[in-house]
Amino acid sequence: MIRLSAITPSGPAQLGNYLGAIRQWAAEGTDQDVYFISDLHAMTTSHNPARLRSLAREQLAVLIAAGVDPRSVAVQSDLVRELGALTWVLECTCTYGEAARMIQFKEKSAGQSSVRLSLLTYPVLMAADILLQGAHEVPVGDDQAQHVELARVLARRFNGTYGEVFVMPKSVVPPTAARVRDLADPSRKMAKSAKDAAGTVFVLDPPDLVRRKIKRAVTDDLGVVRYAPDAQPGVANLLEILAACTAKDPKELASTLSGYAELKEATAEAVVEELRGVRERTQALLDDPAELDRVRAHGAERARERCSHRLDAALRMSGLG
Ligand code: ATP
Ligand code: MG
Repeated sequence: MIRLSAITPSGPAQLGNYLGAIRQWAAEGTDQDVYFISDLHAMTTSHNPARLRSLAREQLAVLIAAGVDPRSVAVQSDLVRELGALTWVLECTCTYGEAARMIQFKEKSAGQSSVRLSLLTYPVLMAADILLQGAHEVPVGDDQAQHVELARVLARRFNGTYGEVFVMPKSVVPPTAARVRDLADPSRKMAKSAKDAAGTVFVLDPPDLVRRKIKRAVTDDLGVVRYAPDAQPGVANLLEILAACTAKDPKELASTLSGYAELKEATAEAVVEELRGVRERTQALLDDPAELDRVRAHGAERARERCSHRLDAALRMSGLG
């Protein structure tokens, strides 16, 4: 059983990525799974080439440092030739209407004066990621479920038209993990590409910066530590972060804390402790480029081996070569 997940280097990995995804990948993933650093997806909106390259490298280091099986990690662009080839064939399997109805495309393109064509076609690239690796399951949130559905439609259509090549993937709800909200605006989730990073804790932030950001977190003026996500979203977010870092229950934690200062103090120390190991190991990997290159090449080779026969079959059966 192959499970495929991805993280986009649209910004540096943040606490939500770590508690909500990367930590789970390290604990539960097997060497059969695929974890992509999806740098091709990060090019669908305005990007800086040098920054993209360094963020992809940094995220690779973070995943390895966090304990994700290095054999299961690959940088998407290391397979750009394979993925580009299959994306073309799948674009010739997909209709314009199917791509244009993607909710994410509508949301991300709304009000923009100029939209990259790749923003429209990227769900087809995502289908290529999934189908080329032969993934059975794709754990995704609501925002990505429609894209996995498109991958299913394209797999079914290709198999029906040209012959059985692709495994039918399905989206699965990821195991319930922490949902971390922005510290400065708890009405939205923490995200690495947020325009204002004041409420975002990055995995590689030095401890003092983590403490400062958490100290400045928005709470409310009720002054009681209770776990009430609707009435007290800022306090509930801190309790959830603290709970995720200490493997405790947010409600129980609330009853042991007497005020917001104490809550913030405890949360800051727990986050610093939780991130310490991964931050130090990431730094060590970034300081040893040869080792990181070796891990990267190995992961890419493995992902390529897994897909080459399927790509050959798809090209041949659709009339190429
Ligand atoms: P972007 O702003 O580019 O969308 P992101 O921080 O949302 O960045 P993604 O690359 O979209 O990150 O997602 C990578 C993984 O991290 C996914 O599994 C996603 O569900 C998880 N994730 C992202 N943000 C959070 C969060 N705030 N809390 C928990 N999990 C999160
Ligand atoms: Mg996201």
